[in-house]
Amino acid sequence: MILSSPVTSIPGIGEATSAKLAKLGISTLFDLLYHLPFRYEDRRNVFPISQVQPGETVTIRGTITSIKNEFTRSGKFIQKAVIADPGGEMDVIWFNQMFLVRALKHRSVSLFGKVDFFGPKRALISPDYELLSSGTNPVTLHTGRLVPVYPETAGISSKLLRSKLYSLLQKIDVDDFLPETFGLLSWKTALTQVHFPDDLSAVGPARNRLAFDELVLLQLTALAHRQNWDHLKLAHPLAVDQEQVSRFLAALPFTLTGSQLTAIKEILSDMSGTKPMNRLLEGDVGSGKTIVAAVAAFVAHQNGLQSVLMAPTQILAHQHYQTLSAIFRRFGIPVSLITSAAKSVPKQTGGVIVGTHALISEKNRPLLQNSGLVTIDEQHRFGVLQRNLAGQLGLSPHILTMTATPIPRTIALTMFGDLDISALSDLPSGRLPVKTWLVPENKRVSSSRWISDQIRATGHQAIWVCPFINDSETSVTVKAAVSEFDRLQSVFPDLKLGLLHGRLKAAEKDRVISDFRDGKINILVATPVVEVGIDIPNAGLVIIEAAEHFGLAQLHQLRGRVGRSNFQSYCLLFTSDGSSPERLKALETHHSGRELAEIDLKMRGPGQLYGTAQHGFPDFKVATYENLELLALSKSAAAKIFPDLSRHRLLLDLLKEDKIALTRPN
Ligand code: ADP
Ligand code: MG
Repeated sequence: MILSSPVTSIPGIGEATSAKLAKLGISTLFDLLYHLPFRYEDRRNVFPISQVQPGETVTIRGTITSIKNEFTRSGKFIQKAVIADPGGEMDVIWFNQMFLVRALKHRSVSLFGKVDFFGPKRALISPDYELLSSGTNPVTLHTGRLVPVYPETAGISSKLLRSKLYSLLQKIDVDDFLPETFGLLSWKTALTQVHFPDDLSAVGPARNRLAFDELVLLQLTALAHRQNWDHLKLAHPLAVDQEQVSRFLAALPFTLTGSQLTAIKEILSDMSGTKPMNRLLEGDVGSGKTIVAAVAAFVAHQNGLQSVLMAPTQILAHQHYQTLSAIFRRFGIPVSLITSAAKSVPKQTGGVIVGTHALISEKNRPLLQNSGLVTIDEQHRFGVLQRNLAGQLGLSPHILTMTATPIPRTIALTMFGDLDISALSDLPSGRLPVKTWLVPENKRVSSSRWISDQIRATGHQAIWVCPFINDSETSVTVKAAVSEFDRLQSVFPDLKLGLLHGRLKAAEKDRVISDFRDGKINILVATPVVEVGIDIPNAGLVIIEAAEHFGLAQLHQLRGRVGRSNFQSYCLLFTSDGSSPERLKALETHHSGRELAEIDLKMRGPGQLYGTAQHGFPDFKVATYENLELLALSKSAAAKIFPDLSRHRLLLDLLKEDKIALTRPN
């Protein structure tokens, strides 16, 4: 059996069912096997018919001695049957399932349901049913046992999943796809017990083994990527001239933090090597990642090579363009911006080219190939873009990715084995934590007054983040922003307001942002597009509406738009229903992205924080990031298996399929 085969290879699953299964994230046999029950119903109590009483929920077995459709006064059909076992008989009632008459007449069945009165007599009402095969010990899936209950969707019932899974499990002809069990249950035992447990105590160890599988597969994928990366050839070897670098650093208007210096050292060491750099620079909002990337770009320039910096949005690309232009001007290093408006690639060599992630396209291949360094900013899907890019290019430049998504150490060490990581652990000195309040609805009016006084007294600017409705900028989001803008204009008649959302034309966006940057706008009303990266040192207030829709890490990102200078900044959080959930209060007392991410992890579960592809973390079906012991075990198991990988056919097949999200294309 090939685990990566589509579910349509199972008899009875056609295109229609397959499309419904896809809604549950099931497209292959592997997916189906790892679609686990979220609970079990105990239907083990099998009773003789003579003993059951109204009010009891029971399994009974016997023969359907009669069954017929009856027309009720309300115009519906009921199915009235009698089931008999050697000691007694009882009525059974179903509603509107006319086909049962043919399916069950004179058959041996097992029924599970509630005994009640139907008229004067006791009867089993609408029970689950299944036909009993002959033999002394017939197998039942839906009655008379611990019955698995699965996440379902329209047209995919637990009953269907049970039947398909049972027959699939019968076909598994190997005990394991790993060469050994590493002290856990064998694969086949684990699968059998998780879907059809003999006892509830069997479920924990079974799940553990299946979680282990996901972790091992992920680690093996990372090892394979690492190996591929190690075989990549570096496009342009560079030399690092420390003296020139020192001269560059000395010219900056500030002194670098300790962790900026360490990160620079690590990056330059990669850049002077013979392999392409494959490094992730991780640092909290405002920790100063851009300047680290600028140093690397400077080194490329020193070697006569251009470098490319990519950002997720036009706004950010434009900002980087301005920042880098200011830094590089005095060194005579040209900086150019590739926008969707002006797509032509600049001719000069040795410069810095800024653009959006769209720069990774077939058309720009020569541009990237001719670069000494490619930096990808605010990339939440660590590694994926690098690998795609390197795979495309063959000869790879040095690649640096930057993110503000905090990655817990355990995860970084075990999950991203194919990336090198530098972390900025401190903020530039003199930064004050942003004072944060969760504001109750009855203080809205007085807080507006306070905001307006604050803006007038300090000259600082404010960013007003509108409700977040969808992941993407939908027309609904835009409409909400426009009406919020109108409302705020009447609340702050004496202040100058600007509106920023994703549906504005690029030129308009640029104008709004540069007006804000130039201090011509007091309050910038914006959709959550401002989340990533915008750096406006004079912004001192951020107001976030409908904060309950955001994760803590995301709110922290938004809050990070202020507090980028040495004056006191403020963050006001409002909820759409005026409630003050405990979770949001964490922002009042915590100011580190990592701590907040960990609180979110505890309160909302990994599914919320790390489970989504947009955070770049693989979405597991069974495994979690909390089980450190299992993580460690999977790591050593993967290291042991990897050298002999080619010998394990089933395993290779799974890896080839990239079952685990690590390399799902962007
Ligand atoms: P992020 O890591 O969020 O991308 P940025 O690179 O945008 O942060 O830097 C935030 C702000 O801090 C910028 O205005 C930048 O010029 C400034 N900055 C960076 N490093 C330092 C430093 N060592 N000392 C003071 N200010 C710094
Ligand atoms: Mg940044």
